[in-house]
Amino acid sequence: MKKRVFSGVRPTGRLHIGNYLGAVKNYVALQDEYECVYCIVDLHALTTLEETNRLQSNIYEALLDLLAAGLDPEKSIIFVQSHVPEINELFTLLGMVTPLGWLLRVPTFKEKARLHPQNINYGLVGYPVLMTSDIVLYKGEVVPVGEDQLPHLELAREIVRRFNEHFGETFPEPQAKLTNFPMVIGLDGKDKMSKSLGNHIELAATAEETTKKIMSAVTDPARKLRTDAGHPEICNIFKLRSYFESSVATALNKDCRAAAIGCVDCKKALAAAINADLAPLRARRAELAARPEYVIDIMQDGARRAQIIAKQTLAEVKQKMGLVPI
Ligand code: SF4
Repeated sequence: MKKRVFSGVRPTGRLHIGNYLGAVKNYVALQDEYECVYCIVDLHALTTLEETNRLQSNIYEALLDLLAAGLDPEKSIIFVQSHVPEINELFTLLGMVTPLGWLLRVPTFKEKARLHPQNINYGLVGYPVLMTSDIVLYKGEVVPVGEDQLPHLELAREIVRRFNEHFGETFPEPQAKLTNFPMVIGLDGKDKMSKSLGNHIELAATAEETTKKIMSAVTDPARKLRTDAGHPEICNIFKLRSYFESSVATALNKDCRAAAIGCVDCKKALAAAINADLAPLRARRAELAARPEYVIDIMQDGARRAQIIAKQTLAEVKQKMGLVPI
């Protein structure tokens, strides 16, 4: 029997190539080996109350990108977190076994509290409990994560262990599946690619928009003249070209150091490679966008299938916690 993978995607609107290389390509690949449950985690988006007026369109745009990238509703369950309300009940119940001290020491809580001092809410503190509930409501056994997310998963495992010790074996301890996909740096050449920093390229961008953005990207700051030798190891364009056309990396490394290629030509080549790589995805996205009722059907069917699992898990949890009337 295939193991079950669970992963959540935050609905920040259209996905960008950082999301694509860092997570979505991996999600697509996992579908053949595992039973996958992929969730657009809209409740998590409320913890910082960002762009709530655009939440529904953000969910829809993210879903279009995920489907266009190759998530297949025939192979995976793809749904929106709040469409399966059992999550709220499990969140409350797991909150009863989670010591507050565990939550207050989570580094991302401290960071978010620093960034949003005007809104340090209960939901923000409980975020890891909600994340754990997401995984275990579907009895997720494997969670694809980057190294930076390992502490969160360890906390989820601690909550699961505590529940299982107290109420009997109920949830599998979710295992991390470390991904070797890169943390993609944005076009500013310094920070992680992110929509909020505006240093990103949307998957759904046109070829022209993509080229325009890349042509204004930061390269090796020490290379002032075309004749200066470049330092590909500190140039983000080099990294991006290595992801999208790995076969050129060795030659580019040499040519850049020898000033045999200029940054303008190098960026044009990157833009062409990205546009060629994303062309099929963009075409599929346009087809899906022309059929909104089909996309909504996928979302509703995903919630229906997810809810079947969720109801079974919740019934078991309530019975073990003594909440079922005699
Ligand atoms: Fe970067 Fe390419 Fe310019 Fe070298 S030639 S510094 S790799 S953009």
